[in-house]
Amino acid sequence: MIRSLTIVYAALFGAVAGSFLNVVIYRLPRGKSVVWPGSACPGCGRRLSWYENLPVVSYLALGGRCRSCKTPIASRYPIVEALTALMFAAAWWYYGAGPLLVSRLIFGCALIALFAIDLEHQLLPNAITLPGIVIGFLFSLITETGWVSSLIGIAVGGGILWAIYELWWLLRKEEGLGFGDVKMLAMIGAFLGWKLTIVTLMLGSFAGSILGGLLMLVGRGTMKTALPFGTFLALGALLAATVGPSVLDWYLRQW
Ligand SMILES: [Zn+2]
Repeated sequence: MIRSLTIVYAALFGAVAGSFLNVVIYRLPRGKSVVWPGSACPGCGRRLSWYENLPVVSYLALGGRCRSCKTPIASRYPIVEALTALMFAAAWWYYGAGPLLVSRLIFGCALIALFAIDLEHQLLPNAITLPGIVIGFLFSLITETGWVSSLIGIAVGGGILWAIYELWWLLRKEEGLGFGDVKMLAMIGAFLGWKLTIVTLMLGSFAGSILGGLLMLVGRGTMKTALPFGTFLALGALLAATVGPSVLDWYLRQW
């Protein structure tokens, strides 16, 4: 009973965090401050009152439109809020209290923001990836990842993509992937350690090639269609952080 109550609290806390992530996702790529001023409607500029700012609930109550100018509110808002709430509840249930929970929640929030920003802008802001590398490493000092694995993770994660980036440039004289992807995988390495970083890269590339293939099959894309790789890295990292260890165990037992 107490436990289910705390899971509800974790979800509520997550919904509020998701609300802040929406502010980050909207403002960071536009070069605006994420702490000031309060939220306003992008259509008419009217400041939102507190009851229009409630995660998920306000979107549903307002029917997905601004109360005064009727501009549609992006469905990203309730989706990010609901997703973050779900993540907080699941992480609390799975990890319990402790430094690993805090580390995974910060990591998860960074992944959600990077996923949404890359999807919309094909951009992975340094303001998230660079502090992420430092924070991930600091948490590795007190969590099971361990600082050695974290350091190797930063080097391997960043290094592999950096090498691909340079190689692609040499061969094709064009950017095959953005340098933001390099820093993002270094951040993933800092949080998850080097083994799960390789799992992330494999899962991300796998998901990317499946979706790329599907798009080509239905004639919606070509080999050149730029799918933001950061979105796949985020999905891969999410999988690696949850089912990654069991996948690794299974794989290593095949030898
Ligand atoms: Zn409005």
